[in-house]
Amino acid sequence: MKIRVALLATLFLGIGLFSSAHAKLLVITADRLIDVESGEVLERPLVIVENNVIKTVGKQNRMAIPEGAQVLNLEGQTLLPGLMDMHVHLTSDATKHGYKRLAVSVPRAAITGVKHAEKTLMAGFTTVRNVGAPGFTDVALRDAINDGDVLGPKMFVSGPSIGVTGGHCDNNLLPYDYHQYSEGVADGPWEVREKVRRNIKYGADVIKFCGTGGVLSKGTKVGVQQYSQEEMDAVVAEAHLRGLTVAVHAHGTDGIKAAIKAGVDSVEHVSLLDDEGIELALQHGTYFSMDIYVTEYILGEGEQAGILQESLDKERVVGTRQRANFEKAVNAGVKMVFGSDAGVYPHGDNGKQFARMVRFGMTPMQALQAATINPATLLKQQDKLGSISAGKLADIVAVKGNPLEDMALMESVTTVIKDGVVVKYAE
Ligand SMILES: [Zn+2]
Repeated sequence: MKIRVALLATLFLGIGLFSSAHAKLLVITADRLIDVESGEVLERPLVIVENNVIKTVGKQNRMAIPEGAQVLNLEGQTLLPGLMDMHVHLTSDATKHGYKRLAVSVPRAAITGVKHAEKTLMAGFTTVRNVGAPGFTDVALRDAINDGDVLGPKMFVSGPSIGVTGGHCDNNLLPYDYHQYSEGVADGPWEVREKVRRNIKYGADVIKFCGTGGVLSKGTKVGVQQYSQEEMDAVVAEAHLRGLTVAVHAHGTDGIKAAIKAGVDSVEHVSLLDDEGIELALQHGTYFSMDIYVTEYILGEGEQAGILQESLDKERVVGTRQRANFEKAVNAGVKMVFGSDAGVYPHGDNGKQFARMVRFGMTPMQALQAATINPATLLKQQDKLGSISAGKLADIVAVKGNPLEDMALMESVTTVIKDGVVVKYAE
């Protein structure tokens, strides 16, 4: 298949070279197309892509194939918008947790990110939001992808996560003697505002902060709020002032509610949610990004990867509650986005969450919308991303068969088109 990809790339590159004066046309046909905006299925679709933009979406028997176009016939397959994962850590290695991760330098993490970016794209994820990376490795990776140096998804990046001293976004593994602090540590309203400004200075697209304890951090109580209301208000106000959206890490009940009141755009994890938290999210239009697959990896292979015993114990409590609350949030009508926390588990396995989202309460269409049009709206990119519609960027993927009948198909994306370029193709 690698050879096929190379051949295709050469083919399309060749056309680009020899007909640079003309628009490059690509025609894609398949058995069906998922229209995530209407929630309907278009049978026998024909999609025309001009350069990097979707030009026309129609039916095969009603449209002619333009002369000189490259044609991709995806017989027996379903077309979907490029998938979007709103919670990844591309520069993190899932086989190195806890003390193993202390031995990973910032440059090493950046190189790891190159490998993971390609794996993520090949799994069908053409856009990711990277929420937390050391040393602005995410900014470097995003820029290298945009410059065409390496293959990867479109990245919306946060830089280092902002958090309290000793909190989930600090690093508490070493004793006092080492004086180790994570670079996003800040206490007090003005210090957190300074961190927001610093992250923007070095290239952040979004702001991520930690609002409660976490599973994988040493010595934090997962259900307990970190940052006062005053500090959360300051982070969100500063980020919004500068035109950035905000994602908060929050497992605990009080922290979830304080962050929503502060006006965050999305809450990550949302494990120990209560009814009031659901009400607040509905009132504020807050998105939830609930990583309901990752628990299987943490409890299955986490110990081998270096995850601490205390973290395994926390996950046993949190994972079960999170899945029950996922169903409550879906039924209540909270806006949901697909967020996997890949980086805690292996990159490229992102798609495994789809089947779980259906098992724990979503309709198949809702699960697909959570990974396409909803994230596009959260990122304020709905005019460019999130659906196969005329005028949007040509980010399109295909799977064999019908994912509405079997969501596990989303784990085996056969074709990936990013910005009109076929980067993966398999019959
Ligand atoms: Zn995370």
